[in-house]
Amino acid sequence: MRFDVITIFPEIFKSYLEEGLIARAQRKKLLEIRIHNLRRWTTDAHRTVDDRPFGGGRGMVMKIEPIYKAVGDLKRKNGKSKIVIFTPRGERFNQKIATEFSKLGQLILICGRYEGVDERVAKYIADKKISIGSYVLMGGELAALVVVETVARLVPGVIGKSELLKKRITKKKGFLEYPQYTRPEIFSPKKGVAWRVPKILLSGDHKKIEAWREKHSKIVE
Ligand code: SAM
Repeated sequence: MRFDVITIFPEIFKSYLEEGLIARAQRKKLLEIRIHNLRRWTTDAHRTVDDRPFGGGRGMVMKIEPIYKAVGDLKRKNGKSKIVIFTPRGERFNQKIATEFSKLGQLILICGRYEGVDERVAKYIADKKISIGSYVLMGGELAALVVVETVARLVPGVIGKSELLKKRITKKKGFLEYPQYTRPEIFSPKKGVAWRVPKILLSGDHKKIEAWREKHSKIVE
């Protein structure tokens, strides 16, 4: 699967994409993640990507022209692709949307900055307006990373535990997440205090363990 991220701060992504499973998945060619500097699609000497808002008001607004050109160049002609713009006014991102995205061949992610992006981008260029939560960030870059990571782990082979993933997804409507423990069985932060792992998880009884996990699961929808 290919991700194309359009941003005015491409350096933000560098170290993140060079670490862990995301880096490994790129090496294995399961993911192709390209970060594009929007200024590449400007034509003036100052490489301007923003302008003052019509109607007045504070701050600057990102212009439509460079974004239009960038998307035109990046969108693959064949295969399924979707264009996403990030805004706090968008649809709340969740596991269901991530699953839909993971079935695409390409996802183009447009990161806003300043006071936002000319609304015509959302209206005429983007397929989906996405928010990652009810708060206002300074830019769409963190939102893009959240989407890349959530979608990437659903791409077959990326986390290397597709069976586990499948089981957790299909068990119930939504996505099953339960508490996990590892060694030591008893942790003593100070004398007389013992923080224990639930006994059932040490029993080796897989049926009971499964039932315990179901009981303590939270369904993430
Ligand atoms: N008033 C602007 C709007 O409604 O889009 C918010 C501007 S915000 C300061 C700058 C950029 O950060 C936005 O264009 C958007 O790309 C990103 N952003 C801010 N909060 C976000 C959120 N909760 N989810 C996704 N992106 C967000």
